Amino acid sequence: LNVRLNVSDTSDELHEMALTFNRMMDRLEKAYEKQNQFVSDASHELRTPISVIQGYARMLERWGKDDKDILQEGISAINKEAVNMQELVEKLLFIARNDRDTLLLVRERFSLSDMMEELVKETRMLNTGHAIKSEISPDIAMYGDHARIKQALRIFTDNALKYTPVDGAVTFGLYAENGYAVAVVEDTGIGIPEKDLPRIFDRFYRVDTARDRHSGGHGLGLSIARIIILRHGGRIKIASREGEGTRFSVYLPLGDEPEERRSSEEG
Ligand code: ADP
Repeated sequence: LNVRLNVSDTSDELHEMALTFNRMMDRLEKAYEKQNQFVSDASHELRTPISVIQGYARMLERWGKDDKDILQEGISAINKEAVNMQELVEKLLFIARNDRDTLLLVRERFSLSDMMEELVKETRMLNTGHAIKSEISPDIAMYGDHARIKQALRIFTDNALKYTPVDGAVTFGLYAENGYAVAVVEDTGIGIPEKDLPRIFDRFYRVDTARDRHSGGHGLGLSIARIIILRHGGRIKIASREGEGTRFSVYLPLGDEPEERRSSEEG
């Protein structure tokens, strides 16, 4: 990839072509580096559950036959890590499919109002202790992939619950504005420091690994939500203040069959 054309002493036309070629090589190189980084980060994330599983397997090998408690503890821990790994692999596959342009959307017209109401109900049923509030306008429908949009909204919801103390509140909102449906998930949680806001949608990015480790995330949720929303021609706005809370507003075009944007045009 280290090929570049010398652009100094050529004719105008050749000069233009050389510039274009060099720009293309720069972009290729960036994409290549991004891919490399992704593989390396993914391997790193997979290493943790693998070593935990190995550790427990060794423990079971030594003491599992004689000690029932150790046997039980080992089996539970291995199961838990396997589930964790499976979730991680699902997320990695989702992103890889998107990168290869093989992520298909199944589009239909559906009621976003109903979806938000369902989400509120499901969140209340989790009984996390948080106050769950909602301000949802009725009769807002959109055209898109029902399951994917729900998946994205769940990601914001899970985060709101994860990063908000149980005496706090999570509020769901939905309204229409200038041809867009705006779905809002707002919390009164720990918030996101201003300096981290620009990176929050980056793959594997966590604000503070110490702060977030106990939450068991891999820093992929928001990247996935962003892919889904961009594929629907939408965008995400975020407002957050440390110690006060966070609001994610998801803008989704209301019209029929909106023009699809490729996620490689992410910006
Ligand atoms: P994770 O699986 O670690 O939660 P995400 O990609 O979903 O990964 O989120 C990236 C990071 O953004 C999180 O690790 C967390 O630091 C921060 N974050 C996301 N949502 C919130 C929120 N509602 N409140 C505070 N911090 C948040």
